Amino acid sequence: MNEELEGERGAWLRCYRCWSQRLEAQVHYDAILRVDPETGEAAERVEEVQEAVVQCLDCMHDQPHLTIEEGRVVAVEDRWERMVAGKPFVASCTVTVDQDLVESCSGPEAADALTYAAFGDSGTREFFTHVRFHKHDDERIIIHLLVELYARHEEEAVEVLEQAARGVLEITSLAEESRPPAHAPGEAH
Ligand SMILES: [Zn+2]
Repeated sequence: MNEELEGERGAWLRCYRCWSQRLEAQVHYDAILRVDPETGEAAERVEEVQEAVVQCLDCMHDQPHLTIEEGRVVAVEDRWERMVAGKPFVASCTVTVDQDLVESCSGPEAADALTYAAFGDSGTREFFTHVRFHKHDDERIIIHLLVELYARHEEEAVEVLEQAARGVLEITSLAEESRPPAHAPGEAH
């Protein structure tokens, strides 16, 4: 991270929805430990996987523009400015993907699988997505979705959707919504 960004921590170290600075990090560790055949002790660390989610204590939303590196919260460079300075946009759209991209299209996993097929990680971690329905067309699946995402202007919202789409994207409508009220203005210091 560059120094300029460090100096402006207050700009991004806040909830992107309500601008609150009351944040909490949920960190999950997964460790694989080697078992000693003599003593049964599981101590030697073979591998460790860390997953962190930063959450706002005021509006309870996850903060996909923040992540944790070496015990410190850092901004996701290509995302934070757009999300913190942006406004919510709601798009009604379809993404047509190869059916091989969809792991399951029925049952309790369907919504997540269709969202991931349509927009990958951005769909499941950043956007708020609602899969309305899907249709099969030969080898392809047409996924109809409502998506809420943050962007500074309409062109950027379209760009973000296009970059995230894993198939052919068609936007039927795109509307700017108003930002949820800022959390207790003036409380930042
Ligand atoms: Zn918040």
